[in-house]
Amino acid sequence: MSVIIEGIVHLNEENEYIRDKTPYKIFRCSKCKQYLYTKQNQKKKKCLRCGKTHTMEDIEIIEYVNGLSLAVNRVKEKQNNLAIKELGHPPELRGLNGYKFKSKVNSKKEKMMKRKEEIKGKKEKFQELLFELSKKYKVFPKYMIELLIDDYQIPKTKLNNLIIYALKKKILEEINKNYFKYLR
Ligand SMILES: [Zn+2]
Repeated sequence: MSVIIEGIVHLNEENEYIRDKTPYKIFRCSKCKQYLYTKQNQKKKKCLRCGKTHTMEDIEIIEYVNGLSLAVNRVKEKQNNLAIKELGHPPELRGLNGYKFKSKVNSKKEKMMKRKEEIKGKKEKFQELLFELSKKYKVFPKYMIELLIDDYQIPKTKLNNLIIYALKKKILEEINKNYFKYLR
């Protein structure tokens, strides 16, 4: 089924409204299924995603549109719909012509993983610190921990949370107010 869609209005250099009437065809790459557009009179079009060269005589046209911006928008729309169907979210834009099926969810996941690593790193450093202290002192006051955290590159703002964590995990025991014993 072919649909003809009217081009949208543009402003030219003299600020006059003109209609971009350049005819474009929209079709789908038979190899990678990406949507593409090509000028009406173009004989061949190379798929930007997979590199397959399409001969216009052999392809099935999905839509005819007038105007480059409309052609680009229609391809975007179709790619988005495809990605939402396949991935559950729109694709990341690579440029006007190309689409990258890279997942935004993945980069979010990567960030979260990195954050988790950082937190894990702080916990490990903190435990190292406690272990070092415990070698010298059976029981040690909180200020001693405070004096050492810089050496272990632990931000002061994280100290209370780390102490709570260590108490919970039974790495640390609070003997008296602000006096701790290392339990490992
Ligand atoms: Zn392709």
